[in-house]
Amino acid sequence: MNIPFLSFSGMHDPLKTELSKVFEKVYDSHWYIMGNNLKEFEKNYSIYSKTKYSIGVANGLDALIISLKTLNIGPGDEVIVPSNTYIASWLSVSYTGAIPVPVEPIESTFNINPDLIESAITSKTKAIMPVHLFGQSCEMDKIMTIAKKHNLFVVEDNAQSQGARCNNKLTGSFGNINATSFYPGKNLGALGDAGAITTNSDDLYSKANVIRNYGSEKKYYNEVKGINSRLDELQAAILDVKLLHLNKWNSERVELAAKYNQVLSEIPELTLPLLSPNCTHVYHLYVIRTKERDALQAYLAKHGIGTLIHYPIPPNLQKAYSEMNFKEGQFPIAEKMANTSLSLPLYPGLKYSELEFVAGTIRSFFKK
Ligand SMILES: *Cc1c(COP(=O)(O)O)cnc(C)c1O
Repeated sequence: MNIPFLSFSGMHDPLKTELSKVFEKVYDSHWYIMGNNLKEFEKNYSIYSKTKYSIGVANGLDALIISLKTLNIGPGDEVIVPSNTYIASWLSVSYTGAIPVPVEPIESTFNINPDLIESAITSKTKAIMPVHLFGQSCEMDKIMTIAKKHNLFVVEDNAQSQGARCNNKLTGSFGNINATSFYPGKNLGALGDAGAITTNSDDLYSKANVIRNYGSEKKYYNEVKGINSRLDELQAAILDVKLLHLNKWNSERVELAAKYNQVLSEIPELTLPLLSPNCTHVYHLYVIRTKERDALQAYLAKHGIGTLIHYPIPPNLQKAYSEMNFKEGQFPIAEKMANTSLSLPLYPGLKYSELEFVAGTIRSFFKK
């Protein structure tokens, strides 16, 4: 058997005719940027997100940067970020000129530990950036309470968790202004780079809307120094079709994760992903942990099973952040996760027989 880490077939094959028609429609319209397809997708994504507004942008990193910009976060400010996130969360803070301040995660859920946030707050702290890692919502009730108490903004990084909930409220609808990514591999993915901002604030909406388009609301009249980060018509139209299937795909991911939990539970060498109380998970990634990670990954590869490591080096130990002089051992949970985590194949269209083959191969690795 050959089981790739990710396959789009289950999602894209049944939509091929429909997506080809969308391509033709946009192609024939001769209108490729900032048109009706974008407006339609923004309307539908805000309905999906249960937020007043959504703004299509070029990618998830830009969505984060623009969100921080609308809050006037910049040099001299600090933003609290998880120590174990994808580096984009940190980079967005750095690009504004502010400093990312890492806080360790809860080991069993991979998400930022709300109980450690307050001790990281200083007089310079402007915002908290919770990242709903791997598809599970952070404990947003606790985080929002802390933010309110200290008068901080919240900017959610919702790139991996469209459709997840905390206390039945959707991720991407808690913070002042929030970012998501439609990178192809995300739960809702474009056929290229894309991203969005969600907010309930009229003021932040107007600001972000202008920043993403050269700082101009009226063509050739520039109110602020914006950037070019627009979601093009073709990607918007494709996302609009795929959005209709997101809940179904997420349910399939949840079922596959439950199946993995069931078939892997009797292997004592593995730690399986756990849920925080009142939080749901949409399994962008199914991440297990084991001390024998590297040998297990090599063994699975030898048997035709693709896996990935999210992420092999935490941001604080990346060369890109060497100027902050973080020491090895300073964020032990993030480092432990980097050394023990392994993401297994999980995507809509993965068959139970394939999943059982993955589980059986893992079992035989630990028996040998
Ligand atoms: C993918 C991702 C991003 C960045 O999104 P891009 O569209 O690749 O720019 C940001 N944060 C997290 C947690 C991500 O997984």
